[in-house]
Amino acid sequence: MMTTLLTALMTGFVLTQIANVATTVYLHRALAHRAVTVSTPLAVIFRVTIWLLTGIRPRQWAAVHRKHHAFTDEEADPHSPAQLGWVRVQMTNVHLYRRVARDDEQVTRYARDLPPTRLDRLLLDHALVGLSLAALCLVAVLGWWGGFIAFGTHVVLYLSLSAAVNAVAHTFGTRPYENSATNVRWLAFLTCGEGFHNNHHAAPTSARFALDRSQVDFGWWVIGVARRFGHATVRHDQPVFVNPPVGASS
Ligand SMILES: [Zn+2]
Ligand SMILES: [Zn+2]
Repeated sequence: MMTTLLTALMTGFVLTQIANVATTVYLHRALAHRAVTVSTPLAVIFRVTIWLLTGIRPRQWAAVHRKHHAFTDEEADPHSPAQLGWVRVQMTNVHLYRRVARDDEQVTRYARDLPPTRLDRLLLDHALVGLSLAALCLVAVLGWWGGFIAFGTHVVLYLSLSAAVNAVAHTFGTRPYENSATNVRWLAFLTCGEGFHNNHHAAPTSARFALDRSQVDFGWWVIGVARRFGHATVRHDQPVFVNPPVGASS
């Protein structure tokens, strides 16, 4: 019983980390910012992973996120702790996301370059099918009880960590660059680099979120492996900053 519980919890954690890799490398760095371009086979792997483990429609995610960058911590920001308070963003992130994601006019405006493909229409736009398939696979391998705990752990962890990037990493932490986002080391560790959010807002088209040697950006490592095998190219090797670092001479 104890072993089943531990296996289920560990499985849930691993699934969240796989979903985090797909989120940060594909949805965020590749689609939303074009900081990295991935090969077609790798894109299909990421898309199927996102369908099975998150139910997110990539063009909707890119649209919401681009709007966040266009109006960061202003009134039109879809999920700003400066406007709404960090607790509200942390607790209602899914609701805030959906308000923009389900607005076709806004999705078309912010993700015009990402129209739905045939594979999206046939399969990947059907979130419940993907999530149910993943849940059924877990039940088949771990049994009803184990599968339920593993899937539940993954859902709670993935949603909490995604919300924390929007809530915690715009409120607590360090701001080496002049923007309202923050770097939160523990969060970066759990989200494959997303917690270096101040770095990211400073250089949004950089495929690398870690900007000093002490920072660990697992998403960047994955991109490094994909590059080595010819499945990814980065937009620029050195980050291009929108603002100079605080205290830096101009
Ligand atoms: Zn942000
Ligand atoms: Zn971004």
